[in-house]
Amino acid sequence: MRRKTRQIHVGNVAIGGDAPIAVQSMTTTYTRDVESTVAQIHRLQDVGCEIVRVAVPEMEDALVIGEIKKRISIPLVADIHYNPELGLEAIRQGVDKVRINPGNLLLGRKSMEKIVLAAKERGVAMRIGVNSGSIDALDKVAQMQRVQVRLRDDGTLERSDPAEARRIERENLAERMVTRALEYISWCEELDYHEIDVSLKSSTVLTAVEAYRRFSQRSDYPIHLGITEAGTLVTGSVKSALGLGLLLAEGIGDTLRVSLSAEPEEEIPVAFEILRSLELRNRGVTFVSCPSCGRVEIDVISVANEVEKRLSKVQTPIQVAVMGCVVNGPGESRDADVGLAGGKGKGVIFRKGQVVKTVPEDQFLDAVLKEVASLLPAAEAS
Ligand code: SF4
Repeated sequence: MRRKTRQIHVGNVAIGGDAPIAVQSMTTTYTRDVESTVAQIHRLQDVGCEIVRVAVPEMEDALVIGEIKKRISIPLVADIHYNPELGLEAIRQGVDKVRINPGNLLLGRKSMEKIVLAAKERGVAMRIGVNSGSIDALDKVAQMQRVQVRLRDDGTLERSDPAEARRIERENLAERMVTRALEYISWCEELDYHEIDVSLKSSTVLTAVEAYRRFSQRSDYPIHLGITEAGTLVTGSVKSALGLGLLLAEGIGDTLRVSLSAEPEEEIPVAFEILRSLELRNRGVTFVSCPSCGRVEIDVISVANEVEKRLSKVQTPIQVAVMGCVVNGPGESRDADVGLAGGKGKGVIFRKGQVVKTVPEDQFLDAVLKEVASLLPAAEAS
């Protein structure tokens, strides 16, 4: 069961309540380079990104928000650190949401309140982003010493089990993240502002999971899920699938970002794959392909990769299977909307469980794509 949260709106996208779990990403361009930023946002939109965030490190970046907004059709979020004036300018420019970590804003609460009042006046949403890295480092060291070493009555030191010490440390850190987030929320509520969602990110999967679980038990504000600085394509995808997957399977999470050290367009398919695997969204292609083995009779790896790449922009839910031989091929292919089961230098194409035709290996790709196109609405089939 998905946890019930209150609903907020970021531009025309609803977050929380019964809204679909929204997929977000962040540009890697210099925001002030409007052409490059808009081009990257269009590429993100093409693969299904539903909300996009841009970094606003300087006033030059804040001042182009309005221009970028005019040229894109998904909600825009301004990522603000340190200088509250950047948030105020982004709001004046018409941004849909600001993401702030109140803990690093100059003048702290006073600055946050200025941003909250401006956001409230213009109907702009806000993400309160608490990262484990922004929790006081000195406090962390003191805490680590507390949990790893205990003074016995006879004056000698007892060392804790390292795994147990890590668990206690993780729980304490998660608790402090949650306490901070709840405190920042209370500042907003005192100003009668509620268009908030919250992220509690950490690069350590288990810390993030612990923090999100604790927060979800104590607040009904929507939750933005993410494992921060998760790593490269493989590392980051695995960490995100694990952390976000654990939480989503427990019904926690209203929007998410898979953070990767890769082109942002690569984050979107990973995010949708996580959501599809948990049957939380069914957008796009559910892809089934065999890993290949010593029985393989076609170049299944090349065909599978190429088919997946060519169908990356499809939004209609559809299942496609590419299988290497007759052992599992016909069964899996028959269950898919479109399937290819390889044989000796040729393959059988299935559509909705029916054999359509047998084609030679050099026609696999075209044959699969043609069958998929026949099941898509006209706008997507091209
Ligand atoms: Fe191997 Fe055939 Fe299974 Fe593919 S479908 S993994 S080729 S046995």
